[in-house]
Amino acid sequence: MTFAAQILTLYPEMFPGPLGQSLAGRALSEGRWSCDTVQIRDFATDKHRSVDDTPAGGGAGMVLKPDVVAAAVDHALARQPDAPILAMTPRGRPLTQERVRALAAGPGVTILCGRFEGFDERLFEARPVEPVSIGDYVLSGGETAAIVLLDACIRLLPGVMGAASSGDEESFESGLLEYPHYTRPVEWEGRTIPEVLRSGDHAKIAAWRKQRAEEDTRLRRPDLWERHSGARDQSPSGAQ
Ligand code: SAM
Repeated sequence: MTFAAQILTLYPEMFPGPLGQSLAGRALSEGRWSCDTVQIRDFATDKHRSVDDTPAGGGAGMVLKPDVVAAAVDHALARQPDAPILAMTPRGRPLTQERVRALAAGPGVTILCGRFEGFDERLFEARPVEPVSIGDYVLSGGETAAIVLLDACIRLLPGVMGAASSGDEESFESGLLEYPHYTRPVEWEGRTIPEVLRSGDHAKIAAWRKQRAEEDTRLRRPDLWERHSGARDQSPSGAQ
């Protein structure tokens, strides 16, 4: 099955962009995912093909017109009725690995890319559009956010990473950051690879990795650690 990505944007030439390279690029040419763009401006109705207007209540910048964006969304919905529609916005719910996994298991995704000050809020009431943020910072447009979201989904599609790497151990899959990695040379600038990783003792290596994943998560991401240890304390097996 092909994972169908449909991107609503004012800059269709930005796609597939970096997703045409490497792992995602190979998956695209193998037909594991498809990339279609819809030019939002094609749904403008005035002679200037306007897509934005000044913010109600005053202030800087411009806001994407709800009628134009909704017409583009309706077009996308008719083409791909089963795919969820995600609007990229810093005001959205933060994207998580769990959400990415769920999206990658589905038929595809329609992504709405904002520009200027973003979307008219009524769009979210009038259409089944889910606001999604890729982090607590502000980009100039939703296209790069869409590329991030798609990249995260595409690598999880069947056959993309190969059997050897399912991604199961990676950061966030178990609620923790992944353990740290090392490779040759064994000694570099006076620093050596931890002895345990060279011991060949798989049980000891697994225990070390678990401990480092927990320690690094606690120090670097107390928010994740709190959630993880809260969930662990509530599980039937207790603090395991
Ligand atoms: N006025 C908006 C705000 O403060 O929430 C920021 C608008 S931003 C300059 C323009 C567009 O970039 C947004 O409509 C959105 O599509 C995209 N964007 C910016 N930051 C983003 C983020 N963290 N996550 C997802 N999309 C983002």
